[in-house]
Amino acid sequence: MIRGLRGCPLVEIIEGMLYGIINYYQKRHAAAVLHSTTVQTPYCNKMYIWMDKAVAKASQHIVIAMGTHDNRFEITVRAKGGVGRETTLVTHEVNLGRQFDGRAECTCNKPMLLHVPCSHVLASLAQVGVSSGGYISTFYLKENMVQTWTWEFFWIHGSWRLLCVQ
Ligand SMILES: [Zn+2]
Repeated sequence: MIRGLRGCPLVEIIEGMLYGIINYYQKRHAAAVLHSTTVQTPYCNKMYIWMDKAVAKASQHIVIAMGTHDNRFEITVRAKGGVGRETTLVTHEVNLGRQFDGRAECTCNKPMLLHVPCSHVLASLAQVGVSSGGYISTFYLKENMVQTWTWEFFWIHGSWRLLCVQ
């Protein structure tokens, strides 16, 4: 953000950073609107790509239902070994709780850290025929992504404000 501003006086550095941030907002907004109007998906571009990859991975997993009360699953991930490399099987444990209410735990920790279903959770959901929609944070919906970058910068009473204009 401050590239090319290093030798400037402080006021110019701050101004330069502000214009950099505004430019960043304009680019993110344009990209979000373009994605939202051209790609047939309920999700933002990052989630669209994530789901594409995770669904493809999930179809390769071996799923065994393990739970009696909870919907627990053991997922065996196809070995990544190549020529001359040792092939080891990796297993993950998924717990979808008793109701399919959007709560998912997995030993890979991605659902907890990123609020998105990992390929292991998707494989478990596919096994029981439950849609993955409720397992993705509404943060990743494309209309929410557009909303995030729709704010406008205004100079009001001697300071810059970021205001939502919708
Ligand atoms: Zn996982």
